[in-house]
Amino acid sequence: QSKNRTDRGVCIFSNEMQDAIDVRVQKEARLRDAIVRRELVLHYQPQVDFETGALVSLEALVRWDSPDYGFLMPGKFIGLAEESGLIGAIDTYVVDAACRQMQQWHQQGHGWIRTAVNLAATKFSDPHFKTELHEAMARYGIPPGVLELEVTESLAMRDPDAALVLMHELKELGILLSVDDFGTGYSNLGYLKRFPADRLKVDQSFVRGLLKNPQDRAIVAAVVRLAHNLNMRAIAEGVESEDEAILLYALDVDEIQGYWMARPQSAEAVEKLFDQPLLLDPAAFLQREALP
Ligand code: C2E
Ligand code: MG
Ligand code: MG
Ligand code: MG
Repeated sequence: QSKNRTDRGVCIFSNEMQDAIDVRVQKEARLRDAIVRRELVLHYQPQVDFETGALVSLEALVRWDSPDYGFLMPGKFIGLAEESGLIGAIDTYVVDAACRQMQQWHQQGHGWIRTAVNLAATKFSDPHFKTELHEAMARYGIPPGVLELEVTESLAMRDPDAALVLMHELKELGILLSVDDFGTGYSNLGYLKRFPADRLKVDQSFVRGLLKNPQDRAIVAAVVRLAHNLNMRAIAEGVESEDEAILLYALDVDEIQGYWMARPQSAEAVEKLFDQPLLLDPAAFLQREALP
């Protein structure tokens, strides 16, 4: 089918391959513009404390509201951003946008709503990153203890010595830290115990298996104990049902995040939850006999 053949009949480059490259190059160019045109938007997902039932913090999750491709979830463009080197600029944008939003909520009288931002690998080795964070916090008057960074376990363990140094520097700036997707990487526990992280996020793959699978239950129980012994809070993400929440409560998880309570949503939508006293009823959990 291809017209691009050499005289020896070897297909060196098909039209289809060229088309795929064009599509990719174009998407990359559009993504580059998207940052400038402010087409990237943050959605926010509540994280809720089991003891009080109150919203403790939000996770900021980036979306690309593209005139060409529609409303894209990170799975559809973060990979491209990483490969094309745009991810650093995206994360700079996300930190700025999250801080700006926190300031706006504060000015509207909601107080400082603790917000966690996800971090790509490149940022972690970017020598300007600290300055960037410091400047963003200064620009929007962010006090210590409200901006949080989520670092995946695999990223933190890639170069744990460097991670340790940076984490301590971030702590000095008043930034909170959490270890994301915990349980999916290969942790060096000798390093984990030295990380000044505030939270350990149990990966949602374990939450998914919780109801059917005693092994997953054992893993979550162990991770929670580990977190507590290291003076970290344990938070579970991807909680989709009350049954999962009940089990997580029984396993001594401190905080939960998931569709069961609230999906990631626009700033305007999530704002309405700030006035709602409880996102879950803690009394309902205390009364339940959870484990079979
Ligand atoms: P993550 O940090 O582990 O984020 C959690 C993901 O789980 C989010 O997907 C969230 O929408 C989804 N989630 C939350 N609750 C539930 C639930 O109950 N059930 C299910 N099935 N899923 C749930 P999302 O928004 O598609 O983000 C995917 C990943 O993209 C994130 O994983 C994070 O690694 C990355 N990401 C998101 N925003 C950013 C960003 O601003 N910068 C960078 N570098 N990465 C980001
Ligand atoms: Mg995260
Ligand atoms: Mg995660
Ligand atoms: Mg507890």
